[in-house]
Amino acid sequence: MSSSVIDFLATERRLGTHNYEPIGVVLSRGEGVWVWDTEGNRYLDCLSAYSAVSQGHCHPKILAAMVEQAHRLTLTSRAFHNDQLAPFYEEIAALTGSHKVLPMNSGAEAVESAIKSVRKWGYEVKGVPDGQAEIIVCADNFHGRTLGIVGFSTDAETRKHFGPFAPGFKLIPFGDAAALEAAIMPNTVAFLVEPIQGEAGVIIPPAGYFTKVRELCTANNVMLVLDEIQTGLGRTGKLLAEQHEGVEADVTLLGKALSGGFYPVSAVLSNNEVLGTLKPGQHGSTFGGNPLACAVARAAMRVLVEEGMIENAARQGARFLEGLKDIRANTIRDVRGRGLMLAVELHPEAGRARRYCDALQAKGILAKDTHEHTIRIAPPLVITGDQVDWALERFATTLTQDFS
Ligand SMILES: *Cc1c(COP(=O)(O)O)cnc(C)c1O
Repeated sequence: MSSSVIDFLATERRLGTHNYEPIGVVLSRGEGVWVWDTEGNRYLDCLSAYSAVSQGHCHPKILAAMVEQAHRLTLTSRAFHNDQLAPFYEEIAALTGSHKVLPMNSGAEAVESAIKSVRKWGYEVKGVPDGQAEIIVCADNFHGRTLGIVGFSTDAETRKHFGPFAPGFKLIPFGDAAALEAAIMPNTVAFLVEPIQGEAGVIIPPAGYFTKVRELCTANNVMLVLDEIQTGLGRTGKLLAEQHEGVEADVTLLGKALSGGFYPVSAVLSNNEVLGTLKPGQHGSTFGGNPLACAVARAAMRVLVEEGMIENAARQGARFLEGLKDIRANTIRDVRGRGLMLAVELHPEAGRARRYCDALQAKGILAKDTHEHTIRIAPPLVITGDQVDWALERFATTLTQDFS
């Protein structure tokens, strides 16, 4: 069947599992901050595939690296060495200041891998009695969709009817250092947390929170695991969001933009003996660390730095945030963000954020609601000042629109 006669939405409804509720647009092409639908309409992408396309759609240098590598060698499995893995290790370690790297594919796999390795570290290094390791996590967290991870979610939809779940996780409120202090027990091996809670609606913790968290983790020999899958790699205007807080995690998780959206690539980075506890046969992934993934990730990291995308995220993020704050609309309850990780929270009376996203689509902007009343804004980090201003005009008219 030619694409012009397929009813994409009807076919997706008929054959696809309905585990998403997409905006009604069918995209067929992307370049930089722009995407085009099958009818040729152009949109500014203000989601960037949940920050995976930070380098912009179809970045030519990442594309070239991918094509070149795909012609040479794509997959060896880790049963053999390949000539892309070591350079990937060198470059990601130099970029992030890490000492050990574990390459995986999806973000959720990186989280699972971190959970496995901090538990192992707990038993073999910290001396926690076998089977007793505890990991502290935050309410409203988002760390992915595997069974292990959804078991410690606090979102009802995420968990409901997927149990039974694995034990060993303790929930505390986000942004509350006293709660962490009270929750740490002799068997606590790690605190797993997002520097800014993305899916929860771009929730920024109070100033000084992470300084205190770092102190508590160090004092109690608890591994601080920062999930930077969304916040990392320039999204917040620094390479890692932890740099805003002046702290260093023991374990850092990267994914999403690590491939610039070309391929699923994630990594667990550690600064200490945590990843050293994994021995042959104890963990793995057929695709993890494959040469195609490594070549793509190397190019994705290179363009991020060489093309000044991190500094641009800081500059354009500040411009975007200021412009959003200048919009006078009684629909707006709060505007917040760091770098190009932004959100507009609407008053509940303004109705669901989804209808504002639909209205933005009609004006040439694709954004996605989260948690009913919040519009998240996260364009590619290559956005220009003019494009920010273009977007702001459209946000202003949409947020002041009368839907009644
Ligand atoms: C997206 C995301 C994940 C999960 O990544 P997947 O590639 O979808 O498995 C984990 N943590 C955070 C903070 C994320 O934003």
